[in-house]
Amino acid sequence: GAATRDRLRIAIQKSGRLAEPARKLLAACGLSWRESRDKLFCYGESLPVDLLLVRDDDIPGLIADGVCDLGVVGRNELDEQAGARAQIGLPQAYRELRALGFGQCRLMLAVPEDWEWTGPEQLRGKGLRIATSYPSILVGWLQEQQIDAQVVELSGSVEIAPRLGTAELICDLVSSGATLKANQLKPVETLLESEAVLAGPAGGFDDARAALAQMLLRRMDGVLQVRE
Ligand code: ATP
Ligand code: ZN
Repeated sequence: GAATRDRLRIAIQKSGRLAEPARKLLAACGLSWRESRDKLFCYGESLPVDLLLVRDDDIPGLIADGVCDLGVVGRNELDEQAGARAQIGLPQAYRELRALGFGQCRLMLAVPEDWEWTGPEQLRGKGLRIATSYPSILVGWLQEQQIDAQVVELSGSVEIAPRLGTAELICDLVSSGATLKANQLKPVETLLESEAVLAGPAGGFDDARAALAQMLLRRMDGVLQVRE
């Protein structure tokens, strides 16, 4: 439940792949800020639009809790957390408002290089273990494909799981494929085409933030169109 506010608060990644492109995009929309000492909060100067600098994983939850109004986050993270919420019976609290054209990557299934890949059905009935940081997206895909594999949830370094013997295959984000190759793995199936997105609450706003969000989206559409 979000309180009534007359300033808009946008969560972006503090550091990492999406941090700089997110700030550049918002700056191109005419926003400027005064940074706080700890650099976690940036006070909007040109418009009443503030930034909160956080870990990308926290962004969907911050929107769901009404702490932030909008967020720039990978579709992979947004979909994963939406799936996890659905699994425990929580309502959908946020939605994707715009695709932003940066941070492109794929969530892919990868297998040892020496496997001959004929398709997902070859995984059925083998009692295989798949390591991933995206368990809810993976479980959904496995159900669709009617594959009875075990999902091993890891928060990082998923690509070394097969070498460590924690899992036979992995499901991870891939952009160039170099990390997979360095670990003698090859991508075989795409579960999700991802990029950075602007996320907002499922319900929208019913105060001054509505007009602010509308203006920001209009400006963003202009910027994204020119970039195409
Ligand atoms: P944080 O400290 O904010 O938790 P992180 O390590 O989880 O950082 P990054 O590695 O910066 O996050 O990735 C942020 C997002 O960038 C990913 O969620 C994804 O949407 C996107 N991305 C694009 N290419 C890749 C890639 N090759 N590997 C991982 N993420 C990628
Ligand atoms: Zn993260």
